[in-house]
Amino acid sequence: MARVIAIANQKGGVGKTTTAVNLGASLAASEQRTLIIDCDPQGNTTSALGFPKDPARRTLYQSLILDEPIERIILDAQVEGLDLIPSDKNLVGAAIELVPVENREYKLKAVISGILAKYHYVLIDCAPSLDLLTVNALAASDSVMVPIQCEYLALEGVSELLDTLMRLRRTINPALAIEGILLTMYDDRTTLSKQVAADLRSFFGAQVFETVIPRNVRLAEAPSHGMPVMFYDIHSKGAESYIQLAREVIANAQKRIRQGIGSTDSGAGDNNAAAAAAAGADSSRLPTGNPNSSGGSPGPE
Ligand code: ATP
Ligand code: MG
Repeated sequence: MARVIAIANQKGGVGKTTTAVNLGASLAASEQRTLIIDCDPQGNTTSALGFPKDPARRTLYQSLILDEPIERIILDAQVEGLDLIPSDKNLVGAAIELVPVENREYKLKAVISGILAKYHYVLIDCAPSLDLLTVNALAASDSVMVPIQCEYLALEGVSELLDTLMRLRRTINPALAIEGILLTMYDDRTTLSKQVAADLRSFFGAQVFETVIPRNVRLAEAPSHGMPVMFYDIHSKGAESYIQLAREVIANAQKRIRQGIGSTDSGAGDNNAAAAAAAGADSSRLPTGNPNSSGGSPGPE
């Protein structure tokens, strides 16, 4: 059964889509069948995977709102082992049209439940908001990956996100774990990037992935060529970093299996710690999907 990972941060431009596309491609290249769900009406993941805007294309909207079978919406992302559920601007309407629907928070979960057995990983690229679509993504997920840009005010909004995650865990999805915090757009030439990365590691401890995504122009260029960076420039630092991240995600999953931790590894007793973290206090006991997390903070590689 697939591990479903929402890639979420309500702050815009932090690297959610870049992560969905390139982690997805890297997982597929590691023989992990992967589905990426574009859950953002901006449709950036859809275009970054080589599908230009097309009003005739069926998207997640048709499945969520018009109950079209999801199998008819799934596209072959032109990378072996990688599929895509596309999005377009109509999805803006879905966030509103879902409001009167019964079990509105669980619509996406219901829609994808029949296809999870086909995949090892499902990555959901969320919009930069905490609207009903994002709530649907988090309700359908086993865990959430939070990309944070290594820049001034990096933590802005993160406590609000953690607060929302805690509320979701209390109400909608008690099993939701933290897959990890991902440091993105790291520039090792600047003191600021180093300082922000160090601060985030001391704040979030072992929940931060060891892999750091560097600022890399190839990562920014690849979407305009409609392909993941590993097909655009396999030797780039950007491609290397996402391949490394895929290895870390897979290794964490294997460790969880060895330790006998299922997808309910969210540690219900940790609600208070996470709430405290959300309020800006020590977050070291936030529930996590990372089996390393109990051992304190690992240093950067
Ligand atoms: P939104 O909140 O609007 O959905 P996002 O969080 O999905 O944004 P991206 O679209 O992935 O963020 O990235 C924002 C911009 O930064 C894009 O132009 C992308 O190409 C660029 N970018 C992302 N990661 C990197 C990186 N590591 N190095 C260089 N450029 C990057
Ligand atoms: Mg995006």
